[in-house]
Amino acid sequence: MEQYALEHHVPIMERHGIHTFIGLLSLQKPQNILELGSAIGYSAIRMAEAFPNASITTIERDSERFVRAENYIRRAGLEQQIQIIEADALEWDCEAVGKHPYDALFIDAAKGQYQRFFEKYEAFVAPGGVIYCDNMFMHGMVLKDIKEIPRRKRTMIRNLTAFTEWILKHPNFETHLLPVGDGLLIAIKKEA
Ligand code: SAH
Ligand code: MG
Repeated sequence: MEQYALEHHVPIMERHGIHTFIGLLSLQKPQNILELGSAIGYSAIRMAEAFPNASITTIERDSERFVRAENYIRRAGLEQQIQIIEADALEWDCEAVGKHPYDALFIDAAKGQYQRFFEKYEAFVAPGGVIYCDNMFMHGMVLKDIKEIPRRKRTMIRNLTAFTEWILKHPNFETHLLPVGDGLLIAIKKEA
């Protein structure tokens, strides 16, 4: 899978990032995980293998990647444990068909939409649950002067920066931004 991702430019989680992420999850011990952005199923499979008792739901809107993820999941024999859904996470009706509440939510879909994902899905995360967000540094782009960023990526970077500032101040979450992988954010939902 790593080889396929490399050859086809699929942005799967970076090696140190996934290592730390799995480590954090093993402290948290989630039973019910929701992932936004499956790509080819790499991170979902890594989570399923690390936590055989956890149930994982993962959403992907790109049909080619969805089909490939389905295949990898089946080949790994994990189709009972991982439910993959072909949908746009901003349109999917989690309220009606999701297996909420989730104790872990992993946001790894469109980087310019993180706040929208967060605002839509945080209601489905149990108190004490954790929201993890990957690629918070966008390969160092968030640290650069906006003029050095290619124009077509500026809105995405501005949105990601605004989301970071917003969530760090959010009174209902205890948030940490970890400098591992491509930047991993963890937001712990405070008990009511
Ligand atoms: N979590 C994966 C990598 C995900 S890459 C891993 O580490 O292995 C990001 C994926 O999010 C892409 O495949 C993209 O198609 C998908 N995506 C982006 N916006 C989305 C949305 N609104 N709904 C569902 N999937 C989305
Ligand atoms: Mg990612």
